[in-house]
Amino acid sequence: MNKLIVFSFCTTLVVSCSNPKPPTTAPQNDSALTVEPAQVEEVVAVDKSHTEWFAIPAKSTTFTELRKLDFTAPEILELVSASKSIHSLERIPAGTKFSVTWSDDTKTERAKISFATSKSKRLEFDLTEKPWTPSEIELPISKLMRTFTGTVTTTLWDSASSAGMAPSLIPELAEIFAWQVDFSREVQPGDRWRLVVEEKFIEDEAVGWGPVLAAQFHTKSGDKYTGIRFAPEGESASYFQEDGSSLKRMFLKSPLKFGRISSRFSKSRFHPILKYNRPHNGVDYAAPIGTPVRTVGDGRVTFVGRNGGSGKMIKIRHNSVYTTAYLHLNGYAKNLRRGSKVEQGQVIGYVGNTGLSTGPHLHFSFYKHGRFVDPLGVKFPSADPVPESSMTAFASVAQNSLAKLPEWNLDREFAQSEEGEMDIFLQ
Ligand SMILES: [Zn+2]
Repeated sequence: MNKLIVFSFCTTLVVSCSNPKPPTTAPQNDSALTVEPAQVEEVVAVDKSHTEWFAIPAKSTTFTELRKLDFTAPEILELVSASKSIHSLERIPAGTKFSVTWSDDTKTERAKISFATSKSKRLEFDLTEKPWTPSEIELPISKLMRTFTGTVTTTLWDSASSAGMAPSLIPELAEIFAWQVDFSREVQPGDRWRLVVEEKFIEDEAVGWGPVLAAQFHTKSGDKYTGIRFAPEGESASYFQEDGSSLKRMFLKSPLKFGRISSRFSKSRFHPILKYNRPHNGVDYAAPIGTPVRTVGDGRVTFVGRNGGSGKMIKIRHNSVYTTAYLHLNGYAKNLRRGSKVEQGQVIGYVGNTGLSTGPHLHFSFYKHGRFVDPLGVKFPSADPVPESSMTAFASVAQNSLAKLPEWNLDREFAQSEEGEMDIFLQ
């Protein structure tokens, strides 16, 4: 009996759809009672609801916009007050999109209101049931594989834009091979790259990029690098070469062999000399004057000399991503100059008390993409190879990801010619 009641209700909706004049009363349709149950299911599935999207214009408010849609002031206050438990409607900025759903296109009965509080979240109210209670809906993210390939003619960035790739993926590519290629300095015309990456979608709208799954970088001079994303069991994902070795090089844990951490990285610390709070953009190691200071990784010296409150300072650029700095030094290693190449563990200077310093110590700073990071807090990807226990899984991931790489961009491939190299790839 229940099903038949549902059926007659839905018939109403179907009738109202095909009939320009919506019926005001339930249909007196006896034939409905003779319909087979199978057909009932079919009719129940018909959704007659009608949804329209709106946006809160600049200089307007949720209140004003909802009033325009015939919500009464008390109704709006109810929505606002109920919303506070999840995401207050009072905090919704101009430009926010929201939708109203009616039970059908006559727009007489409101069924739902939904606010797009972020790209992936909706604050929804079922308006058919009082009291109105908000719920937060997390929209499902779908993923699509995208492949890109490019050849450098001028810069890596230009090669991305001519490949139709979002420039935001270039730093990803650069980071994968950061220890192999110095992307901001060593990239040459004729270098080529290809990668496969996940693109994320919410309701058919592209909302961002997932990780690069595999990438290759081949230099014009013949060096070939491959990076495959893989998370060994119990570890976070990192990039490995086809044989399972890591593309990363590890940093030394500390620039001092022996030394006690006397002050940690902090967003706000009371400065003992300046007497006010300011960020402490590094880690301090207390150690006697003259203690040898080692570079934590291979790189090139970009600064050596006095630098105001930093005292005697050395800065080392490890690759296009990471730079380290060593402050308050007493002196520098012999022959250390700007541009000198240094190897991990090499002594570059000696602990001192120069600049704004209250006692002998080394201030050690770590930069990633030019920004301070906490050398003790940041998790550097492991430089260990894929462990033996994960090799089988890795081999299958590697085969899968590499198979997804696109064909090399052969039509833009660099070639040598009598007429000159540039002619070939600028044609
Ligand atoms: Zn310090």
